[in-house]
Amino acid sequence: MRILITGGAGFLGSHLSDRFLGEGHEVIVLDNLITGSLDNIQHHFGNPLFQFIKHDVTNYIHVPGPLDAILHFASPASPKDFHTIPIQILKVNSLGTHNALGLAMTKGARFLLASTSEVYGDPLVHPQPESYWGNVNPIGVRGVYDEAKRFAEALTMAYHRIHGLDTRIVRIFNTYGPRMRLDDGRVIPNYVNQALHGQPLTVYGEGSQTRSFCYVEDEVEGFYRLLFSSENEPVNIGNTDETTMLELAEVVNRLTGNQAGIIFKPLPEDDPKVRKPDITRARTLLGWEAKVNLEQGLQRTIDWFRRNVAALG
Ligand code: NAD
Ligand code: UDP
Repeated sequence: MRILITGGAGFLGSHLSDRFLGEGHEVIVLDNLITGSLDNIQHHFGNPLFQFIKHDVTNYIHVPGPLDAILHFASPASPKDFHTIPIQILKVNSLGTHNALGLAMTKGARFLLASTSEVYGDPLVHPQPESYWGNVNPIGVRGVYDEAKRFAEALTMAYHRIHGLDTRIVRIFNTYGPRMRLDDGRVIPNYVNQALHGQPLTVYGEGSQTRSFCYVEDEVEGFYRLLFSSENEPVNIGNTDETTMLELAEVVNRLTGNQAGIIFKPLPEDDPKVRKPDITRARTLLGWEAKVNLEQGLQRTIDWFRRNVAALG
């Protein structure tokens, strides 16, 4: 297959490139590098099956030649970005999704949207099944991401219903692993970076809020299976192992041998109190569930950060 990955120089997109190239497919990455990096894909330069195009997908997209699938992953994803580049987030998920869908129509390509567990907002149903409509504050600081992704889902379903486009929607729950930015701002890179510098870990609020963290290799397997399924309705892909931010800090300090402990910082606005996927649909439709547990995944991530923190001095 000839695959286009928007946002392919980012954390998830670059792992997707590895997977598809590894399976013998041709991959074109389209990225404006706003939060991504060429470091994530440099190992593919020189591979005749790989091509990189620097482009902002909020502008008209032109890709010569046929395309079999478009994986639309372009979008900043860290809550830190919600404060610094909110308009870019709204534009890439609305205008960018519109352009990517239009390209899929032109090429007759299958389209997969990277959506998010943030469509459930601060959930009142726990764990979250795909049938839950969510609890989102449209004008809060997280609204720029949550509402943009909800719009992207609505647009994708409209193209499916009106134009018969062959679409997929994956609702991605917190994913972590190598190639997250050292200064990404999300909790795992924050904690690991702090621990490797011998600093106390910054726990927001009382640290009682929960997340369910999926190792990137498992997550990408879920994307791969979904693309090759025939499922047009959204599917949650995430690990069901739920942990508090306080417990997570203790594990990171133990695995890194960090003696500096933790410090508490204010809880950000609208921070979801709980999050855990109901993966009944992923299990039954795709035969998928996560295999890597938190300690194994954190150990691999810590090893990668150790090498990269060292490389940056
Ligand atoms: P990331 O920031 O590492 O990757 C996003 C990529 O998109 C970057 O390379 C960035 O440069 C690129 N990009 C952003 N705006 C663009 C534009 N206008 N034109 C072209 N490229 C653009 O983030 P990530 O964690 O890899 O997230 C990738 C996708 O997965 C996003 O759509 C995100 O919403 C979704 N997602 C991720 C998670 C997670 O836990 N990592 C959870 C839910 C959803
Ligand atoms: N968090 C934290 N310390 C940090 C960064 C984040 O305690 O240094 C918390 C944050 O308040 C949230 C959880 O960790 O409750 C996950 O935050 P992240 O930014 O990774 O993503 P989110 O799931 O909120 O989108």
